[in-house]
Amino acid sequence: SFSSGNPKVCIVGSGPAGFYTAQHLIKARQDVEVDIYERLPVPFGLVRFGVAPDHPEVKNVINTFTQTANHSRCSFYGNVNVGKDVSVEELQQAYHAVVLSYGAEGNRSMGVPGEDLAGVYSAKDFVGWYNGLPSCRELSPDLSCETAVVLGQGNVALDVARILLCPLDILKSTDITQLALEALAESKVRRVLIVGRRGPVQVACTIKELREMVNLPDTRPEMVAADFEGVQEAVNDLPRPRKRLTELMLKTAMEVPGEKEQERRKKASRVWGFRFFRSPVEVLSDPDHKRTAGIRLAINMLEGSGESARAVLTGEVEDVTCGLVISSIGYKSLPIDASVPFDSHRAIVPNIMGRVQQATGLYCSGWLKTGPTGVIATTMNNSFDTARSVVEDMDSRRLDVSAGKPGSQSISALLDERGVKPVLFSDWEKIDALETRRGEAIGKPREKLLTVEEMLLEARK
Ligand code: FAD
Repeated sequence: SFSSGNPKVCIVGSGPAGFYTAQHLIKARQDVEVDIYERLPVPFGLVRFGVAPDHPEVKNVINTFTQTANHSRCSFYGNVNVGKDVSVEELQQAYHAVVLSYGAEGNRSMGVPGEDLAGVYSAKDFVGWYNGLPSCRELSPDLSCETAVVLGQGNVALDVARILLCPLDILKSTDITQLALEALAESKVRRVLIVGRRGPVQVACTIKELREMVNLPDTRPEMVAADFEGVQEAVNDLPRPRKRLTELMLKTAMEVPGEKEQERRKKASRVWGFRFFRSPVEVLSDPDHKRTAGIRLAINMLEGSGESARAVLTGEVEDVTCGLVISSIGYKSLPIDASVPFDSHRAIVPNIMGRVQQATGLYCSGWLKTGPTGVIATTMNNSFDTARSVVEDMDSRRLDVSAGKPGSQSISALLDERGVKPVLFSDWEKIDALETRRGEAIGKPREKLLTVEEMLLEARK
């Protein structure tokens, strides 16, 4: 028998989806108890390991998440790898409901020859490297070339381009890792081309990220006028956010700048530019077949127009010389437990309003639910929706919460048997304090610990 007959919900993953789901559940029902299990010893998912270091304002959501974690009906168990340390079925036995919100930790590959050459990285790894993700610590990307090609034109691609070209003076007061800062200080990269398979009207970035690129000190844009044929004519018919984005793009690419901007551009030592209507065909190697020497791009044309336009091959190709290729063509969720339904084509857990199909008591939220698109606000809304489904199911008795469940009691026992020692939120706060202290000493908001071992050591002090 269990002391409290409260409904117990387990959440897998402590990114925005996990925390926003927990927040809504705790608020919606005064009796729900929520336990969050996280693979890493540290919380917050991509807010810590994805969001660019020069976007500190975006990371303010951590304050809200911390409030949730400190709520009396919420507990955090870090350093627990669900699917390995404990199975989803075991969690389902211990809890009335299980919400999967473990994000999208896989990577879409380009699927072209040469992809494995030195000098080719996924944006996911590159971002993980500059943000201190333990598994990417040893990436040591080779930044000894002049031109880098970023494949993809979404916000992550622009983050990567911006970090590659950002003046060190700006970066050194962010929470970028010291390791990355030192590497970027030695970087020879002066030119970054941001390549997309479709045109200026189809780019996947948002205006904030484009504006940051346009305003990045010590850089100037280098576009290809021919890519913008017909865009001016089409701009007025575009829907609102797209219209403003396209206007900024046109202005940057086509307008003769005012005197001040001309002066700024003339002095700039670094260059960035979009390259449109291009798809990767092959990463080209140097004569020794060791390193990246360039990339062969297929030249596309558009079939149709607007958001739904398709890129079709013209049969022509173009080679671009570069020593660094970063592919930013998307994150991808992975299955973590064979017992959980998984749509491998769409790379999501199949669900209706967050209810996993054919699995009572199992839910999903965040990027695992929707696929890896959208900003934190999007993730928040879809996580609230999932929490609403859980509450609805409790209220309608579709989910039986009348019988007590052991919750963390039985899971803690299982983990103990298996030699897994969870990191509690108060342990994370020790890590947090150390990182903040280390940062303060060098004028940064934080200097992250870079290995799981160091994190665990600090947590157990
Ligand atoms: P995640 O944040 O990935 O969280 C998933 C969590 O689950 C992680 O903590 C992970 O460690 C954990 N986990 C994984 N596997 C397991 C397991 N087996 N067991 C237990 N736990 C597990 N949005 C903005 O609004 N502004 C930005 O500036 C911005 N920048 C971004 C930059 C990048 C590079 C990326 C990739 C995204 C960015 N986003 C930004 C989007 C934002 O990060 C996402 O919308 C959001 O993080 C998705 O939340 P999530 O909880 O679904 O996934």
